Amino acid sequence: MGVQPERQEGEGGCAVKKRKVAADVTMDLDILDCPVCFHPLRPPIFQCTIGHTICSSCHDKLLDKCHLCSLPTVYNRCHMVEHVVEAIKVACSNGNHGCTARMTYYQREDHEKGCPHAPCYCPLIDCGFSGPTPTLLHHFSSEHEWHSTKVSYKKAFTIHVQVGSAALMGEDGHMFVINMVMEPLGGVISICCAQPHITGSKFKCKLTLSHTETSYSQATEFLVRSSNMHGGLPKDIVPLIVPKLLLSDTLASATAKVCVVLGLTLTRQ
Ligand SMILES: [Zn+2]
Ligand SMILES: [Zn+2]
Ligand SMILES: [Zn+2]
Ligand SMILES: [Zn+2]
Repeated sequence: MGVQPERQEGEGGCAVKKRKVAADVTMDLDILDCPVCFHPLRPPIFQCTIGHTICSSCHDKLLDKCHLCSLPTVYNRCHMVEHVVEAIKVACSNGNHGCTARMTYYQREDHEKGCPHAPCYCPLIDCGFSGPTPTLLHHFSSEHEWHSTKVSYKKAFTIHVQVGSAALMGEDGHMFVINMVMEPLGGVISICCAQPHITGSKFKCKLTLSHTETSYSQATEFLVRSSNMHGGLPKDIVPLIVPKLLLSDTLASATAKVCVVLGLTLTRQ
């Protein structure tokens, strides 16, 4: 990119400043953090008499002593740094998932907390794949051979749950992951809703289990936990424990899988 003249002659011979935008500047963003609390600087920004800058909440605490000079000082607004933090625009870190938003450095964290392009993660350890729900669903079936089932809300349906995970696709595009692990007591079944952002639960789930030969029945109802599944499935989930007696081996062969038949109802709150 060539160097543009900074000024042009305007009407009547007055100098008119041209707006210059550079896309190829690299900069260490750490200098835009407050050196006391390490949060991004945002206006109003204050500086000591030497020129050390701090954010307004640290200014309220330090009042008249600079943490760097350790000298009594008088803080003043630093308009130049305020202009700099307003002028620098950074990209959302979900750019590789389709987000084209650009914002000031200090607005980035808030944007990313609600970014509509934020991904969910494959919960399998050592996988690390992330993407929006449809991409993740494709990944689950192609890479990990997970089954997926479409579900309608408020309608009880029967589901065969095997050890491992499977995806349930809600009628409005929400994805749920149902998982069973074997523990000494029996099969532990959990279900969570894949959501990029932490939100209150939007779904209630009812699981029912019955076994006519032993007249055993169990029903549990809970709010479905949401998670982006980063680092695995959430641990603080209400599980359904299926006694070992009720787990059957489907097909007597090398492909036999422990399986349980459950009634499942998902209801949107
Ligand atoms: Zn600060
Ligand atoms: Zn100072
Ligand atoms: Zn974004
Ligand atoms: Zn994966």
